[in-house]
Amino acid sequence: MKFPSRLPIPEEVLRIAKKLEDAGYETWCVGGAIRDNLLGLENHDFDLTTAAPPDEVRRLFKRTVPVGIEHGTVAVLDQRGTPHEVTTFRKDIRTDGRHAVVEFGVSLMDDLARRDYTINAIAYHPIAHRWQDPFEGAADLERKLIRSVGDPNWRFQEDYLRILRALRFSARFQFRIHARTLEAAKANAQGLAQLSAERVRDEWFKGIMTAARVSKLLTLWMEVGAARIWLPEIREKGEGRGSISAVDKLPRDPVLITACLASDPASLLTRLKCSNKDIERGRAIGVWRDKYPDPKHLPAVRKWLSEVGEYADDLLALPPARTAPLSLLPKAVRSVREGKDPLTLKDLAVTGDDLLAAGVRPGPDVGETLQRLLAEVLEDPSRNTKPYLLSRV
Ligand code: ATP
Ligand code: MG
Repeated sequence: MKFPSRLPIPEEVLRIAKKLEDAGYETWCVGGAIRDNLLGLENHDFDLTTAAPPDEVRRLFKRTVPVGIEHGTVAVLDQRGTPHEVTTFRKDIRTDGRHAVVEFGVSLMDDLARRDYTINAIAYHPIAHRWQDPFEGAADLERKLIRSVGDPNWRFQEDYLRILRALRFSARFQFRIHARTLEAAKANAQGLAQLSAERVRDEWFKGIMTAARVSKLLTLWMEVGAARIWLPEIREKGEGRGSISAVDKLPRDPVLITACLASDPASLLTRLKCSNKDIERGRAIGVWRDKYPDPKHLPAVRKWLSEVGEYADDLLALPPARTAPLSLLPKAVRSVREGKDPLTLKDLAVTGDDLLAAGVRPGPDVGETLQRLLAEVLEDPSRNTKPYLLSRV
């Protein structure tokens, strides 16, 4: 691949690079934005790598945030307050598969050598318009290849997350994983168990959001053995819920997709340390995905909407609701919603106070009576008038 003579670097990034260079510190653009721009994909999120030690970076700029200071990463805020990551040239001197102890005061070459894949180890000098590509990342971009920088076994043992990153990049760009890299990924898959759930979740979710096809990402996670360790609730055939390719038709919503694939969504989302809200959402999907109403029977549709509450749209997005006879369900739901049919206790024309005034005993009777009235109203919304409901008390 011939490098373009110039890359359009955003003005704010260029200003940061100039200031560092003027202070005597060599500074280069690196990482995902270089890779994406060479692929012709839009990405303005240029990372800078510099010879300036972290303290110098913080001294030179008015507004900085030490986002990963122990690894030499400082976010420099531009006038608009947008952060730009500036990382000091570093090399990893000790690693345990999860964290690295890093050393500064090294060269750009060392810094590129500690990066994970050749396509992520290309540097561009934003002022001199020079390129550095010691691991032939540009050639791999052309060959559509994900290839470790250096020996893949060592590189994975330094940080097992790199295995998952390879799968994400492969699914996103539809690149092959180089044979030795793929082999090492499989051989080291057991090391993935050491990673923190948060890092794995972020990778998995980011993968879902960026994959050309989610089914491809999932197939890779299965092939390599990552799914067996972190997503054991996802089985080859999705528990009889159709083929893996069905996920490609789902909305790009990581929680929804994960829940849809898993035999026990709440258990999987709990392992990934998702928020309680996401876990509850997964649980609801697991509970309700086999219990759809008959779309031709509106009282049943209303009762279902009343029970599934905020999860109705998730359930409507799942494959069963898109195939006959349930494919009529979205239309039925729309008609109920457009009719503003009462669906919850607070939609009832009477309140607990009304019932008390009508002589219902304070205590559990009130709630039970309201539930009974709601059931009547779900059956026939025209019953939702105060006189009718009080007559039923
Ligand atoms: P994207 O932002 O699109 O996910 P990226 O390549 O920019 O992709 P980042 O996580 O933003 O990924 O990291 C920026 C750069 O830092 C990468 O391009 C790579 O050079 C390096 N890098 C990130 N994570 C690792 C890692 N675990 N091991 C080695 N190098 C890494
Ligand atoms: Mg990035």
